Amino acid sequence: MERKVLIGNPVSAGIAMAEAYLYEPLVITVEEGYFEAGKETEYINAFHDALFRTKSELQQLFEKLALEDVEKAKIFAAHSELLEDEEILDEIQMAIEDDCMYPDAAIEKVFTEFASILAGVADPLIAGRAADLIDVKGRLLRVYQGKEEKNLSCLNKDVIVIAHDLLPSDTATLDRAHVKGIITEIGGSNSHSAILARSYQIPAILGVGNVMKEIPDGVMLVMDALTGELILAPTAEELAVAERKQDAFLQKRKEEETYLDRPCMMADGTEIQIGINVGSTDFDVTKSSFDFVGLFRTEFLYMENTALPGEEEQFEAYKKVLENAKGNPVTLRTLDIGGDKTLPYMELPKEDNPFLGKRALRLCLSEPDIFLTQLRAALRASAFGPLQIMFPMVGSMEDIHHAKGYVRQAMEELDAAGIAYDKNIKIGIMIEIPSIGLIADMAAEEVDFASIGSNDLTQYLSATDRMNPDTTSYYQNYSPAMVRFLGNIFSAFDVAGKPISVCGEMAGNPSAAVLLAGLGAKKLSMSAANIAGVKAALSRVTLDEAKELAERCKCVRTEEDVRKLMDI
Ligand code: PEP
Ligand code: MG
Repeated sequence: MERKVLIGNPVSAGIAMAEAYLYEPLVITVEEGYFEAGKETEYINAFHDALFRTKSELQQLFEKLALEDVEKAKIFAAHSELLEDEEILDEIQMAIEDDCMYPDAAIEKVFTEFASILAGVADPLIAGRAADLIDVKGRLLRVYQGKEEKNLSCLNKDVIVIAHDLLPSDTATLDRAHVKGIITEIGGSNSHSAILARSYQIPAILGVGNVMKEIPDGVMLVMDALTGELILAPTAEELAVAERKQDAFLQKRKEEETYLDRPCMMADGTEIQIGINVGSTDFDVTKSSFDFVGLFRTEFLYMENTALPGEEEQFEAYKKVLENAKGNPVTLRTLDIGGDKTLPYMELPKEDNPFLGKRALRLCLSEPDIFLTQLRAALRASAFGPLQIMFPMVGSMEDIHHAKGYVRQAMEELDAAGIAYDKNIKIGIMIEIPSIGLIADMAAEEVDFASIGSNDLTQYLSATDRMNPDTTSYYQNYSPAMVRFLGNIFSAFDVAGKPISVCGEMAGNPSAAVLLAGLGAKKLSMSAANIAGVKAALSRVTLDEAKELAERCKCVRTEEDVRKLMDI
């Protein structure tokens, strides 16, 4: 085949060599229609055959996933049960036998009707089952129509996934053993897919225009996520070069790993506290490698479910995170949904600019039941370990007052029920909207701590969508404006004597970590995969050297100048 080289934006370092796997969520179309009388038995048999094959597919999925995660596997068992629901099956059979409706049209009609009845039920647990019915319907229709499943959670060989975009839910359930690389047409370096790829240490190149058309399914690929280069159908020589580069990359990573379990210390002995960002209850990070959980993204609990998680389920999950943190403080960030993160079972308002809309705290303030359920669960967990609560997308003092009001209400509810919680629990905010960063001194008086969400702070400061590959040159993490702004925020919290950390992706970039330390950061929180590299980089400079670098970065004119000084 024709030899081709494509270029994109490398967002998760590494080298991969594997076959391309084109991932397009399958769109099933069902035509309304009726067959001639006399063929009822033939179609009933076809329906039962599809039913049987769908159930065995679900059984296989259950068995495979149960080996890794029994909880996740249960969803397939529940779906299998739905295919045994007598009411649903009878209605489909009647539509085929009595009305001569094609089986796929009958499946579509009956499942959709049942799902809309469930969706209308007030109890969110029952309403959430509607999403399961729609999911099962899709599987049954696909099997009936003889189409192959495209799925990223269960692959049977090593692949490089090629997609237009990956939803956070796709990446969350990714088969990490077989996905060797990720390439997408859209998504910037701080999109949630990029963050997940980095935390799984999967090489990723995003923003490769038209990649779905340029790369045929199954073709051999070399992806160099250090340079952003992709080679289709590489020669033996190119493969050998890539293998050597991969070895060198892994060797460097291994050397840095010797820093992993040491305290983070700069060359002059200045200590920097290292936090980890986690997005699930299951993380296995050695206790000595980190000092705190700086960002516990609670969205996964909501995104992996088929209905809103209840108080009990959340309480158990938060307790588990505290256990896995092995005594280190855990910063629980309240639900940050909206923007590019959606919930399959919850209709969010359609907005022209979702990143500027009813996202995160704004959504929680308008849905008090959801917010209070999470706050009660978090407070209850605080009786079992050092938990602190942090609000995302805070834009004003009003936001802080409203959010704290809900914490008080949740506390009163627990008091009334005689349930224990930490009465001195620390309450903090993310600084990711410039309007709160500019009054950081006032905000610092109202909260116990803060964490800078540099991913969104860059997005909102530079007025650039963090997902849009066409505007990456405007999304400037290291603009002199950002550098000065960060310095001012650290100073405001320093004066107030309140702790502040950085939990955006910047904190996990070794060169940026040095700059941040020079600007006044004493706490950095990152994906566990970045700890070793950051500790190694900080060990090579003194605080004075870092401060000098920061001062110089504040005085240059362009992002390019700052990057040159930072050597990135
Ligand atoms: C951030 O915005 O920097 C951040 C840490 O939050 P998220 O990436 O989850 O939006
Ligand atoms: Mg954010």
